[in-house]
Formats: sequence, C-alpha cells, structure tokens
Amino acid sequence: MINLNPSDKALVPFVSVDHMMKLIHHIGLHDMLKGIAGYIENDFKRWESFDKTPRIGSHTDDGVMELMPTSDGLDYGFKYVNCHPKNTEHGLQTVVAFGLLADVASGYPVLLTEMTLLTALRTAATSAVVAKLLAPKGARVMAIIGNGAQSEFQATAMQAIVGIDEVRLYDIDPAATAKCAANLQGTSMKIVACKTGQDAIEGAHIITTCTADKAYATILTDNMVGAGVHINAIGGDCPGKTELAEAILHRSTIFVEYPEQTRIEGEIQQLAADHPVTELWQVMTGQAKGRTSEAQITLFDSVGFAIEDFSALRYVRDQIKATKLFHPLDLLADPEDPRDLFGMLQRAG
Ligand code: NAD
Repeated sequence: MINLNPSDKALVPFVSVDHMMKLIHHIGLHDMLKGIAGYIENDFKRWESFDKTPRIGSHTDDGVMELMPTSDGLDYGFKYVNCHPKNTEHGLQTVVAFGLLADVASGYPVLLTEMTLLTALRTAATSAVVAKLLAPKGARVMAIIGNGAQSEFQATAMQAIVGIDEVRLYDIDPAATAKCAANLQGTSMKIVACKTGQDAIEGAHIITTCTADKAYATILTDNMVGAGVHINAIGGDCPGKTELAEAILHRSTIFVEYPEQTRIEGEIQQLAADHPVTELWQVMTGQAKGRTSEAQITLFDSVGFAIEDFSALRYVRDQIKATKLFHPLDLLADPEDPRDLFGMLQRAG
C-alpha cells in the first residue's frame, strides 16, 4: 500500500481522470506507453504464474459490461469496462472503465483508478508490443480504419515502440478522420486522410482495425489484404462483433492473448473451435514461432486481456508514489479494533 500518511492506514489512493491526465503529461505520452509496454511484456513472459479466466460479460443488444480479474499471487486486479457502440450518437464514450488493484496477503485495495484513458494506453501499448514482434521488418507505414477514441493512442504507440512514421486514416465518418488527423498533426508522423478503406491500406505494413459496431462487420474484405502485412484487429472483441472477412483468417497466422477468451470474443469466433492459434506469451518466451516469412500475413486477434490491465494498474501504482497525483480515498471501513465495526458506527452517531 502506498504510504499516504501513517495515521490513515486504510485510505486508498484514487487516481481521477484529471490526475491520470496530469500523470500522462508528467511522464510524457511516449515514455508512459513504453513503460506500460515494458510491464506488459514482463507479465506475458511470466504468464504461467497468473490466475486466468475469460472475462465475465453481461450482454445486451446495444453493448456489453465486463469484469476482468487476474492475480499473480502477490497482487490482484480487476477492471470494469463497457462497450456501447451507439453511445457516441448520444455524446457518450463507446468505452469507459475503472479498475482496482489489491494486496493478495490482506485483500485490502491499494489503488482505485480511472481506466478509460488507461485502457486506451494499455491497448495501444499491447498492439505495439505485438507489432514489434510480428510486423514485417522495417515497417514504417500503418493504416487505421476506425478513427475514434482509441485511434490516436494506437498511432502514437506504433510510433514510439515500432518506429512508424506514416499513418493512413479512414473512417465512415469523415469528422472522425478529421479529428484524428488534427490530433496527430503535432507528431512528426506523416498523416494521410483517405476516402476509402482500400485507399488507407495502400502501402501499409501494419493495418489496425478499431471500429465499433455490434455486428459481424466486414471492415477488411479478403481482396483488400495483400501478402506480408501485419493486421492488428482490436475492434472485434465481443460475441457477435467482428471486423474481418473469414477468408482473411484462413490466409493468416493468428496470434492471440488468451485462447479461452479469444475463441468467445475475437475474430476467431468465426472459425472452428480447434482452428490453430499461437499464444503470444509463447512467442515472447521463445516457445513458439512469430513471423516466419516475408509473405506471411500475421494477425493479432486482439480482444484485451486482464493481464494487460493488471500490468497497467501496477505501472500506475509504481508511478504515482513519487508524484502524489492521487486523492486519498476513505473507501474501507477499518475500525481500530478490527472486530468493533458496530462500535465504530455507534461512535460516529
Ligand atoms: P469509438 O466509437 O470512439 O470509435 C469507433 C469508430 O469506428 C467511429 O469513429 C466510427 O465512425 C468508426 N466506424 C464504425 N464502423 C465503421 C466502418 N464500417 N468503417 C470505418 N469506420 C467505422 O470507439 P473506440 O473507443 O475507438 O473503440 C474502437 C473499438 O475498439 C471498439 O469496438 C472497442 O470495443 C474496441 N476496443 C478493443 C480493445 C482491445 O483490447 N482489443 C480495447 C479498447 C477498445
């Protein structure tokens, strides 16, 4: 637990949206993406020490609300996250999230934090860690189809971690592309706004799909995808919600976070339950092969797994210690005599 004040032993550090934004500016976006990426890589390399389960989702026609827990035996973390693609029509975010980290020995929470921004960072960091592993050598150009809330984070992580210097954008809503292009103007990357998805992927080494629609969508058709590219498919992450034509999956080598969850939520829900996939942690530990030829199409069927949130939560816990960018939160009833909860209540009256 962060030492807030010796007399406030049960106060829990809470990182608000405002504090998270200050933390990102304090550390620097590139450095924070690299920092989170480092934690994710390290945690994937010790994959077997984690308690893992597919996330628990509550589905409706319009969206899903999910809980994502995991533990390494020392720390326990979970994230609450939703995905409601129609929210933007009502001025609301498609995805919002918050999360908690707890000390396994006592069960006491040690951090409560906003995770809407942090999810965008950890998703982008994961995409970049995987692209660094699988994208064709010397990849410099990426396409992003779906230019909503996640898009600039995706581009920035690919710049910081993979060395991307050109981003080609497409969205069915030109206003989203204009927003994304304007937000990325300050970077040293060349930004190209495109009129079609086909235009956007022209010459791209990495193709990121991050659209939101609760449907079996076809953002990429088979004929759009040429040999040798890396596809980073992040928008198909829920039963009944995919982005790629099935034929692309049959031409690709498919890499996943946690097969038990991805088979329910990812692009591979379109395939037979025993279709071969490669687990990323095994590539990272040298137990499985990554890209094996220049012509190969590698596909990261990203759905977002709890360990990435756990890595991000621990990163934030470690960073806020020095910055004091948190509120001490009176979250836990913790009487001086642990068995006198009732007495504490009476005295408060
Ligand atoms: P958002 O609603 O802010 O943006 C989505 C964009 O996709 C919108 O601009 C929309 O106009 C565009 N779009 C919809 N259909 C399209 C189509 N057919 N062609 C081109 N563009 C289209 O959503 P967001 O927060 O950026 O999230 C994007 C997706 O990423 C969501 O589906 C979300 O569930 C997913 N996501 C995945 C992970 C992960 O770990 N894999 C993490 C976070 C979000």
